[in-house]
Amino acid sequence: MDKYAIVNATVYQANGETYQKNKVLNNGILIVEGERIHYVGKDKRKLNQASKIFDACYRYLVPGAVDSHIHGILEPNVGNVTEGIWNPEKNRFYCSKEDIERACLEGSRIMARHGTTSCIFTTMATTETRLKRSLECISGHIGEDTGGADIAGIAIEGSFLYPDKRYIGAQNPKYFHQATIDNYKRLIEAFAGDKVKWVGVDPRWSDSPQLIKYLTQKNIAIEIGHSGASKEQFLEALKLIYETGGNEQGGLGIIHLYNGPVGNNHKPRYGQIMQAVVPAVLFAEKNGFKNLFAELILDGEHHSASCSLEALLNFGSKNLTGITDNIGAGQNLRDKYFKMAGVSGKIDDKYPLAIWVNPGVTLFGSRATTMDHMFPYILKILKGKRIYGERSRQSVFGHELSFDERINIALDILCATPARIHKLDDRGTIEKGKYADFVILDIDNEENVKVEKVFVRGKEVKWK
Ligand SMILES: [Zn+2]
Repeated sequence: MDKYAIVNATVYQANGETYQKNKVLNNGILIVEGERIHYVGKDKRKLNQASKIFDACYRYLVPGAVDSHIHGILEPNVGNVTEGIWNPEKNRFYCSKEDIERACLEGSRIMARHGTTSCIFTTMATTETRLKRSLECISGHIGEDTGGADIAGIAIEGSFLYPDKRYIGAQNPKYFHQATIDNYKRLIEAFAGDKVKWVGVDPRWSDSPQLIKYLTQKNIAIEIGHSGASKEQFLEALKLIYETGGNEQGGLGIIHLYNGPVGNNHKPRYGQIMQAVVPAVLFAEKNGFKNLFAELILDGEHHSASCSLEALLNFGSKNLTGITDNIGAGQNLRDKYFKMAGVSGKIDDKYPLAIWVNPGVTLFGSRATTMDHMFPYILKILKGKRIYGERSRQSVFGHELSFDERINIALDILCATPARIHKLDDRGTIEKGKYADFVILDIDNEENVKVEKVFVRGKEVKWK
């Protein structure tokens, strides 16, 4: 099989060593064979094997982002995988089979331009017809060459939430269902088969323990969020997953930890769940449970930098997944208003990355992207000697982080950790044998990050 090489790259492998031990390869060589990485290192003799050689001109070569919670992304049109495509004339979404297809395929191409090489498309609470259409469409494109980001799986966010107005955010309670095995089989499994990677389940439903067990045995992670569950209910779910074999299969995550401002401050919404974080992390440490994790929307608007650092302190970069939670709305909106599954949202240009139900008060979703937005944001908030908490005045890391260390943490959160947590074993790091999913970045002045080139399974994504 034909091989090509990329030379003179500053390669960050994100192979799990993070800030204890740097894994930065200056003047690195990457050799790609077919859709996989054949070699990564510095041995120039290996270049004899390559039929073509590309010069990276000392730019940065990093793994592509794995976005494990994304509903849609379309520019300049608007769309997501549950609601379909926004029609600016009619001022509403259209969701025929073709519209959902477009949201899926065009969406994955646009995502790739921002440095995402794999995604887990996520559904929202919606009608049974739209849900079915969405699940059939996404499943049909898994593993297919989309010409953009690889669609690696499906996530179910809205279907098994609990109708408690305080926590539901932009999800419409009209479309919530009891968290039962029968409902899961009928609404999800019948159309998505074994393609589901995580399911949002509120432990407050009386039948949730049976469903949690069922999904864990099927190697599907449970995520709890949009929930007013008590600390005890959260910890019970954790123990149940652990006892069901959740260290090997499934896992437990917290859907976008902190979940955004309430009123004018960044008060966490999941009051009781936030109290479960420390005991849950201690339980995981004590029992060697690797699959407890939290999602963070790192757009700088959903929560403050100090919240991100607190999450990093509690979970570590090995158990935090950076997600965009992009809902595919943002441009081309008449009057800046839209309605998604019966819930109204508003674009406010004062907040470039977030979308609000009520600007400045209640968040609807995000417009963030991975490598050009969230990656530099993580670098920025980790810069200098970071201080944790207002009161403790203590450094999170015990020393000032170097540029390389900051990059390694960012790549864990955006690439390696989501791939490991969601069992996408062939992705997330630059290693021999893995998919050649990588991004060439131009990083200027340690801050400005530009996505130069993106490769998915060895093929360059073209958009210029
Ligand atoms: Zn979401």
